[in-house]
Amino acid sequence: MAEKIIVIGAGFSGLTSASYLAKQGHQVTLLEKNDQPGGRARTWEKDGYTFDMGPSWYWMPEVFEEFYADFGYTSSDFYKLVRLDPGYRVFFKDNEYADVPANKEELYQLFERIEEGSAIKLKKFLDNAEYKYKTALADYVNRISDSILDFFDLKVIIKSFSLQLFSSLQKEVRSYFTNPKIRSILEFPVLFLGSTPANTPALYSMMNHADLTLGTWYPMGGMHEISKAFEKIALNAGVEIKYNQEVTLITGSGKSINQVETKTDSFTCDGIVISGDYHHMEQKVLDPKFRKYDYDYWNKRTMSPSSLLFYMGVNRELPNLKHHNLFFDESFEGHADEIYKDPQWPSKPLFYACLSSKTDPNVAPKGSENLFLLMPLAAGLTDQPELHDTYLKNFLNRMEERVGFNFEENIEVKRSYSINDFKSDYHSFKGNAYGLANTLRQTAFLKPKMRSAKANNLFFAGQLTVPGPGVPPAIISGRIAAEELNKSLF
Ligand SMILES: Cc1cc2nc3c(=O)[nH]c(=O)nc-3n(C[C@H](O)[C@H](O)[C@H](O)COP(=O)(O)OP(=O)(O)OC[C@H]3O[C@@H](n4cnc5c(N)ncnc54)[C@H](O)[C@@H]3O)c2cc1C
Repeated sequence: MAEKIIVIGAGFSGLTSASYLAKQGHQVTLLEKNDQPGGRARTWEKDGYTFDMGPSWYWMPEVFEEFYADFGYTSSDFYKLVRLDPGYRVFFKDNEYADVPANKEELYQLFERIEEGSAIKLKKFLDNAEYKYKTALADYVNRISDSILDFFDLKVIIKSFSLQLFSSLQKEVRSYFTNPKIRSILEFPVLFLGSTPANTPALYSMMNHADLTLGTWYPMGGMHEISKAFEKIALNAGVEIKYNQEVTLITGSGKSINQVETKTDSFTCDGIVISGDYHHMEQKVLDPKFRKYDYDYWNKRTMSPSSLLFYMGVNRELPNLKHHNLFFDESFEGHADEIYKDPQWPSKPLFYACLSSKTDPNVAPKGSENLFLLMPLAAGLTDQPELHDTYLKNFLNRMEERVGFNFEENIEVKRSYSINDFKSDYHSFKGNAYGLANTLRQTAFLKPKMRSAKANNLFFAGQLTVPGPGVPPAIISGRIAAEELNKSLF
């Protein structure tokens, strides 16, 4: 039976949920506070430069393809996908760097050059990572993870140990390799999971499979092409999308949600998926009688970091930089401590530089670069806009050493974005950039629940619930929430 469904949030989880629910035959309305699709994957254009505002790494392409296939498409119907080679460049101290190649044999040779005997170890490590990746996608990631009971079948328990759900990624990497450069290449993907290698389950070495085996891809036109593709699929499936509609109240009676208020309108519904930031929606928008968690619960969660970002148009080419560049020329542990142990504006930060103009001529004027910089920053700090330029100066100095000249005066477009912006644009809890950290204590059924404990027709999706942060998990989350809501309606 066609029911009236409201989905809140036009990020990847919301667009995915809405599309599947419409495909099930429901009458779906999607309400989004901002004026464009993509959520954190919005775009900003200025003076001929195009910037992806959030995600820039396209990993796990099969998750995107599965979504497209369910609606009769492939990614090529929307954008040209290219595999980057090298996937990225890592800058170390002392002017050294490593390019991480797409080709496996070249990758083994790179590791062997850095640490003798490491090629064979890498092969073993990656075989193990592949096993985890495939098992996790088949057995874990697609679960709603309501409770530990979800994991109470013998097969899953045995697999949990072989997947190393209960030991850390850092231990795993360090049991294979001693060289700090190799360790930082293998430990860096956890930055996406918003945690430290010591606190991230070894299960997540599956991210090394995603990185080093499946590869880093780029949709020509930019990551926002994906947001546009998802929006188009939702519209074609029959979803009505309403932008500039900030939801201010979600309520109902008994065990059912049936009313949604925005700043300007009022909607009735038979079912709802909330994909805006879980904390905000549950603590500030949902009628208190439908809330499961409280202030203390949320305050004890470990959030992923916030970020200090810069979007800059540079009117000359910057040699020696690649599409993706990781500046690991400072201590990873030192920066991580200033994010998690003793939160403060970092003293010697690592940072990431993205120049998609190296791959894509359409995102910057000819002979120019669209430079995106990201520094992870503890969630919950007070934003200090007066510090932004001090950090920028530091990053420019470090880049200029590699580029070979000063390019400050070539910066013709400049915008910084940080904690206050995450809060005002997304209602992000403590200004987090990518949701809840995937720590040992916040994995699977230990995350905020997708299924509401108080209303039968309410589900949460997105990066603060299962399976976790990142675009592919957001897509998976949206699909699971739609399936579960659909089941609950019959
Ligand atoms: C700087 C940055 C870099 C990243 N890099 C990568 C990367 O390289 N690769 C990767 O895979 N992932 C990356 N991520 C993470 C990834 O972008 C997110 O995990 C994912 O996009 C989250 O999708 P979502 O649907 O859960 O949430 P969101 O994208 O946040 O969508 C939620 C939507 O809900 C809306 N909303 C909130 N409150 C309301 C309300 N009251 N009413 C109506 N609408 C509301 C918001 O405006 C937003 O559009 C990055 C994130 C950031 C911020």
